[in-house]
Amino acid sequence: MRIETQCLHEGYSPGNGDPRVVPIVQSTTYTYDSTEHIGKLFDLTAQGHMYSRISNPTVAAVESKIAALEGGVGALCTTSGQAASMISLLNILKSGDHFISTTTIYGGTVNLFAVTMKRYGIECTFVDPESSQEDIQECFQENTRAVFGETLANPALTVLDIEKFAKIAHKNNVPLIVDNTFATPIFCRPFEYGADIIVHSTSKYMDGHAVQLGGVIVDSGNFDWTNGKFPEFTEPDTSYHGVIYSKDFGTAAYITKARVQLMRDIGAYPSANAAFLLNLGLETLPIRMERHSENALDVAKYLESSPYVESLNYPGLPSDAYHERAQKYLPKGASGVITFSIKGGKEKAVHFMDSLKLASNVVHVADIRTCVLHPASATHRQLSDEQLIAAGITPGTIRLSVGLENIHDIIDDLDQAFKA
Ligand SMILES: *Cc1c(COP(=O)(O)O)cnc(C)c1O
Repeated sequence: MRIETQCLHEGYSPGNGDPRVVPIVQSTTYTYDSTEHIGKLFDLTAQGHMYSRISNPTVAAVESKIAALEGGVGALCTTSGQAASMISLLNILKSGDHFISTTTIYGGTVNLFAVTMKRYGIECTFVDPESSQEDIQECFQENTRAVFGETLANPALTVLDIEKFAKIAHKNNVPLIVDNTFATPIFCRPFEYGADIIVHSTSKYMDGHAVQLGGVIVDSGNFDWTNGKFPEFTEPDTSYHGVIYSKDFGTAAYITKARVQLMRDIGAYPSANAAFLLNLGLETLPIRMERHSENALDVAKYLESSPYVESLNYPGLPSDAYHERAQKYLPKGASGVITFSIKGGKEKAVHFMDSLKLASNVVHVADIRTCVLHPASATHRQLSDEQLIAAGITPGTIRLSVGLENIHDIIDDLDQAFKA
């Protein structure tokens, strides 16, 4: 199946007389005929759902769909994008370990990496994504266990050179984890360029309707966890009577461990109802992404010619610094998010935003409805001035998430707000 068809049909194939639509299995638990069978579930030698903290049939249908969309061997849904990023790393790092992340990542992820994980003894070195291979290599330490970056960074809109980062990570025997939230698998499939693990905030385009928070981790199945750097994959897990993930689960070792060990212990698994809503979003993802992208390109062209605009970023625009790289990684579209700076700095930016009538001022992005946010006052408020600059944000930066309204209505609204 091609990706548009997968969005509609992967993950659930009803039998004769079954519901056409994936059912909401609203149950915390599952019955079995024998104690022996339940014992086997606990030993991980039999398949089946046991408790909805680690799996549920509705969530499983969505996990199979997303794994197929990204071309992975398995996926694990989480209650938020933050939980996905955290679990993707905790699955391979422990206290005393280190990892490398690009500077141009989501502000919440910066807090998680620079402050919270550090408190638990995991250190992160942030690197400019445009650094040379030699400079990135300098960031590696004996205890480095992963490299992290965002395909299309929120809100800097830098395009990650996935191949460059995959090459360096693999040279050092560690995996590359890519946050593919803004691109979605419709526009970029990072595994095709060497990424090993993908995470998403499904709260954004995948849900798309601003109704359900969520996240997902996808495993390519390609990384060799037996290379000597990851003993927790090759030595028996005492919390599972000696299971050895790489031996017992082969290419699905990473995603199985994340589910049965970390999700079991942390408990950030979404409800069946949450997965049902996410699935509705996924069904129309391809057509929405196409329109978001078309509308955003038109808006970007309008902004580029506006006398009120100082600078703008949209990799879909031929004049953008990342256009050439976007042709390689995002050939079908650059999604719906644009960042721009209005002349006059923060004061004018805030006045402009407060004058918008159609576009809403919300702490969200990647919604079907056009929305705006001032990162320096909101999502990135916790960052220092240096971190703001590193994340590609200035005091006047406005993040505009172009929705699916008629393009003329979107531009008319921007026009009246500029005049105001
Ligand atoms: C929003 C976002 C996150 C965090 O996701 P939540 O679902 O809000 O927890 C992570 N990465 C990116 C790129 C995001 O845009």
